Amino acid sequence: MVQESRVAIVGAGAAGCLCAYFLLKAGIDVTIFDKGSPLRTLLPTGGGRCNLAHAEYDFKELAKNYPRGEKFLLSAFLKFSTWDTLALFEEMGIKTYTQDDRRIFPESNSAKEVREVILKNIRKAKIIKEEIFSAEELFKEFTHVVIATGGHAGYELVKDFGINIIEPKPSLVGLNTKENFKDLSGTACKNVIINGLQGDILFTHFGLSGPLIYKISSIKAFDKFPYDLEIDLAPNLNELQSLFNTNPHKEIKNILKEYLPQKIVNLVLDGFKETGKAHTINGKLRDLILDRIHHLKVTITSTNRGEETVTAGGLDLDEINPKTMEVKKVRGLYCIGEVLNIDGFCGGFNLQNAWTTAFIASEGIKKTS
Ligand SMILES: Cc1cc2nc3c(=O)[nH]c(=O)nc-3n(C[C@H](O)[C@H](O)[C@H](O)COP(=O)(O)OP(=O)(O)OC[C@H]3O[C@@H](n4cnc5c(N)ncnc54)[C@H](O)[C@@H]3O)c2cc1C
Repeated sequence: MVQESRVAIVGAGAAGCLCAYFLLKAGIDVTIFDKGSPLRTLLPTGGGRCNLAHAEYDFKELAKNYPRGEKFLLSAFLKFSTWDTLALFEEMGIKTYTQDDRRIFPESNSAKEVREVILKNIRKAKIIKEEIFSAEELFKEFTHVVIATGGHAGYELVKDFGINIIEPKPSLVGLNTKENFKDLSGTACKNVIINGLQGDILFTHFGLSGPLIYKISSIKAFDKFPYDLEIDLAPNLNELQSLFNTNPHKEIKNILKEYLPQKIVNLVLDGFKETGKAHTINGKLRDLILDRIHHLKVTITSTNRGEETVTAGGLDLDEINPKTMEVKKVRGLYCIGEVLNIDGFCGGFNLQNAWTTAFIASEGIKKTS
C-alpha cells in the first residue's frame, strides 16, 4: 500500500507558507512548525509595503541579481519566475503594481495585508508554534520534511545528515569605515560610482549606507576586512578649468555646491589651503580637487551588525537538486528560501527566491506523493 504523504514544513516564513499553499492546492496534508508567529518576517519587508517581486521578465537577467545562486536559479526560474509570482498573488487575491524602479508591490502597499491574505489561503494547514531541533525526528511522523527556516537559522536541523554549510555572512547591510564620517551623517550623495556600479549612498555615523552600499556589501559579502573602496562622487564633473574660468569671482565651494551636497564639498576641500575664489586656483590644486572628487578612498572595516537584510551563505547548493529542492543525499528532505546559499540584491529578489524555491519543492513533493 502506498503511504499517504504527510509534509512537515519547518518555518512559516515566505517560503514555508507558499510551499504549504502549493501543496494544499494538490490536496496534500501539511503541518507547519514555527517558533514564532507565522509570516511575521514579512511585515518589515519593503519598509512595510512588501516589495514582493521585481519586474524583470527575462529569467536569465533575473538570475543575474543573485550574487549567490545565479546558476542554480536558472532552471528554477524557467519553471517559476516573475510572471508566475504575479499570477500567484492575483490567484490569492492580491493585486500588484510596478513602481518606476521596477519594484513590484501590492496595490494596498501593505505587507500586513499580504500576510493576512496568505494566511487565509493556507488556513487548511496545521500551524504549530514550536521550535524544531532535528529534521530526523520529524521523519518519524512525516513522509517529507521541508526546511524553510530563513537566514542564519535551521542549520543545526540538518547537521545530522552531514550537509555542508557555507558560513553565513551579513548582506545588504551598511558598511563601517575607518574614516570618521560623523560630521557628514545623514548626507546623501546621488549617482556616485563605486566599482563600476552607479547608485546612491548615504554617509552615516558609522560609515556608509544606502542602496549602492547595500549592493556592494552583497557583492563583497565574502571579502576579508579591511578592504578599500574608491568613490567617484560626481562622475559627470569631468574638468574644473572651464567651470572655474566662467565663474572666476565665485568661491570654489559655491561652484562645487551645484554638483555635490555642501558637506561633501567641505570634505573634498578639507586640508587644502587657498580654496577661495575660482581665479586664484592653480592647475595643480584644480587637479587635486578633481582627483578627490573622482577617487575618494575609504577603508571598510566591517559590516554594520544588526542592519543586515539577508544572509549570504547557508546550505551549500551543491547538496541540493535544483529541479526539486530535495537534498541529494537525503530522500524526502527539501530546503527552500533563504536558508539556502542564495541571496539577491534589494528590489524584490529575495522574496522571489522564496516563492520560486517553494514552488519547485512543492512540485518535487507532488511527484513523490
Ligand atoms: C527588514 C527587512 C526587509 C526586507 N524587505 C524585503 C523586500 O522588500 N523584498 C524582498 O524580496 N526581500 C526583503 N527582505 C528579505 C526577505 O524578507 C527574506 O529573504 C525572506 O523573508 C526569506 O524567507 P524565508 O521564508 O526563507 O525565511 P523567513 O521569512 O526568515 O522565515 C523563516 C521562519 O522560520 C522560523 N524558524 C527558524 N528556525 C526555526 C526552527 N528551528 N523551528 C521552527 N521555526 C523556525 C522563523 O521563526 C521564521 O518565521 C527583507 C528582509 C528584512 C530583514
